[in-house]
Amino acid sequence: MPRPILATIHLGALRHNLAAARERARGARVWAVVKANAYGHGIARVFDALRGADGFALLDLAEAQLLRELGWRGPILLLEGVFEPRDLELCSRLSLWHAVHTDAQIDWLGQHKTQAPHHVFLLMNSGMNRLGFAPGRYRGAWARLNALAQVDEITLMTHFSDADGARGIAHQVAAFEAVTRDLPGGRSLSNSAALLRHAHDAAVRADWVRPGIMVYGSAPDFPEHDLQHWGLQPGMTLAARVIGVQQLQAGDSVGYGSTFIAERPMVVGTVACGYADGYPRHAATGTPVLVDGARSRTLGRVSMDMLAVDLTALPGAGLGSEVTLWGRAASGAVLAVEEVAAAAGTIGYELLCALAPRVPVLVQD
Ligand SMILES: *Cc1c(COP(=O)(O)O)cnc(C)c1O
Repeated sequence: MPRPILATIHLGALRHNLAAARERARGARVWAVVKANAYGHGIARVFDALRGADGFALLDLAEAQLLRELGWRGPILLLEGVFEPRDLELCSRLSLWHAVHTDAQIDWLGQHKTQAPHHVFLLMNSGMNRLGFAPGRYRGAWARLNALAQVDEITLMTHFSDADGARGIAHQVAAFEAVTRDLPGGRSLSNSAALLRHAHDAAVRADWVRPGIMVYGSAPDFPEHDLQHWGLQPGMTLAARVIGVQQLQAGDSVGYGSTFIAERPMVVGTVACGYADGYPRHAATGTPVLVDGARSRTLGRVSMDMLAVDLTALPGAGLGSEVTLWGRAASGAVLAVEEVAAAAGTIGYELLCALAPRVPVLVQD
């Protein structure tokens, strides 16, 4: 028997979440963002569930190539654009649309010998200060692109830093609109958080939305909201089994460093999941888990291949019990990955992306 740990990818949940994104987009076209191997779910695994999107957005050229090999003939957008001039040849050959965020990319386009002209997404840095042209330089970049024979369509794009939080997006929307108001072309502004929290505004929905995390069934604005609040379903479950049981007396410790010490007699289950599976080592005592669908908590430090859970209040649990680290238990109970992430000082995105290659994956409809 293989080691009892399994990641399950729920295609029905992904379809549901994509439909939820489309409903919120109200007619705007929907990019399914599948960067980082579809947020750890596997592009090839999720492709069928997400092919109802209007396009796929990612940043790795090999992943773009994979989508073409899987038979996707619709739009693909490179969110970071090309990294060197010869990447443009692949864009021409595979008809990839690409972001343009810096002058060098415009220079490369100007020198590129292409058969078919390119569709580019011109990225404005409206306040995120990661990629893109500052507002004062944006129209100059647009004019340069517009003058190139290699370019036939320019969509206007920006990205929000605080769509999930208190600062919000109004300052960035204002910066974007002030500069782009009279420019022709489509517009694309919103990630999942903007689509969930701010898309009552048609200018925020615009022509293309770019949901990532919500498609995988995780709330970007936890703990303010969780996936149930947004009507999302977990796209991934990570589950393992109890492979050992220990009876503790008051004063006994659990795991490396003895960071947890029992104050009373306890029953501890040892679970076949550790940080080498992608479970966060920083998850402290008290991180939520489901044991046979019932909520419990981790105890002590996560080790490479195992972690400990509290079975004291679960008399039916023991060797072989199902432990859901995140996602959906066999009982139907759900543990949001963002809740587990919060207990480890990170976000659901990181845990999903970090699923380790050694974990076997089941794709379920
Ligand atoms: C990753 C990314 C997205 C998707 O973000 P989510 O928070 O996962 O919805 C959208 N746009 C850009 C430019 C991105 O890099």
